[in-house]
Amino acid sequence: MTSTVVQRLRAGTGTPFSLEFMPPRDAAGESRLWRTVRAFEAIDPAFVSITYGAGGSTRDATARVVGEIAERTALLPVAHLTAVAHSVAELCAMVDGHARRGVRNLLVLRGDPPGDPLGPWTKHPDGIEYAEQLVRLVAARGDFHIGVAAFPEGHHAAPDLARDTATLVAKLRAGADYAITQMFFDPDCYLRLRDRLTAVDPEQAAKPIIPGIMPILSLASLRRMAQLCDATLPPAMVADLERAAGSGPEEDRDAVRAAGVDIATRLCEKLIAEGVPALHFCTLNRSRATREILANLGLR
Ligand code: FAD
Repeated sequence: MTSTVVQRLRAGTGTPFSLEFMPPRDAAGESRLWRTVRAFEAIDPAFVSITYGAGGSTRDATARVVGEIAERTALLPVAHLTAVAHSVAELCAMVDGHARRGVRNLLVLRGDPPGDPLGPWTKHPDGIEYAEQLVRLVAARGDFHIGVAAFPEGHHAAPDLARDTATLVAKLRAGADYAITQMFFDPDCYLRLRDRLTAVDPEQAAKPIIPGIMPILSLASLRRMAQLCDATLPPAMVADLERAAGSGPEEDRDAVRAAGVDIATRLCEKLIAEGVPALHFCTLNRSRATREILANLGLR
C-alpha cells in the first residue's frame, strides 16, 4: 500500500497537520482549489482529505480530484465516502474505483440527510444504516486504511454521550485506524471525548483522534456552520468576534478573519500542549487563514 495516514502522523517530529478540501463546483472553484493545493504542497501536510457531497458539493468530483492529487502531487490524499443515497453495490463500485486510482486512504462516514443535515436519516433501500457497517464493508473489500468521524460534543442524533462514545468505539473496533473530529471551539470538549473513549476502551483510545479545526472566516458563515454541525459557540469567543465585526451594516471581514486566526491559534496551542496526534484544518479551499495559524504555531 502507499503510505497510510497513521504512518504519516508517526513520521517526523512535532505536531503534524492535515487539510480538508471540498471538490470544486465550477472552473473558478477548480483553479482556486489547485492554487490552494499548490500553496500547501510546499509546507508538507501529513495528508489532505476531500469531502464527499458535504453541503451539496458535487459527488463525482471527489473521486476525480482525489485521483489527480494522488497522480500530480506529492500529497497523500484521503477520499471521504458517505452512504447517502447509495446502494451497497454502488458503494462497492466507488471503493473499487478509489483502489484503481491508487487511493487506499478513505474517511468512512454515514453522511447527512440531503436538504436538512439535522433532519431524520433514511437509508437507501439497498444501502447501509450506520458508518460502522460501511467500515466493515470497506475493510472487507481490500487493503484500505480507514478513518471515521468523532464528535467532541456528541452527534446531534445520539441520545447521550455514552451512546455517542459507544458508536465511536464500535467504528474503531470494526476496523477504523483513526478518527477526525467535528469542529469545536472549547478544547475541553475534545479532552472529555478522549477521556470517555479511554474509559470505555483504552486500546481503541490509543488510535489517533485528530481534532478538526475550523478557521473562522466570517461571523455569518461561522453561525451557519455551527448550526449545521451542532457545535457550541462559547459566548466570550462570539463577543470577541462581534467586536471585531464592528457595528456597520456589513461585518469587517478582515478584522473577523484576524480575530479568527487568533482564536484558532489559542485553541491549537492548548491542544498541542495536551499531546494531540495532529491538527486537521477545514480550509474551505482557502489557504491564508490556515497558513497564518500554522505560522503562529511554528508548524511551517
Ligand atoms: P454514524 O457513526 O453512523 O452515526 C450516525 C448516528 O447514528 C449517530 O447519532 C450515532 O450515534 C448513531 N448510531 C451509529 N451506530 C448506531 C447503532 N449501531 N445503533 C444505534 N445508533 C447508532 N458528511 C458528508 O456528507 N460528506 C463529508 O465529506 C463529510 N465529512 C466529514 C468529516 C468529518 C471529520 C466529520 C466529523 C463529519 C463529516 N461529515 C461529512 C458529516 C457526517 O457525515 C455527519 O455528521 C453524519 O450525520 C454522521 O456520520 P457518521 O459517520 O458519524 O455516522
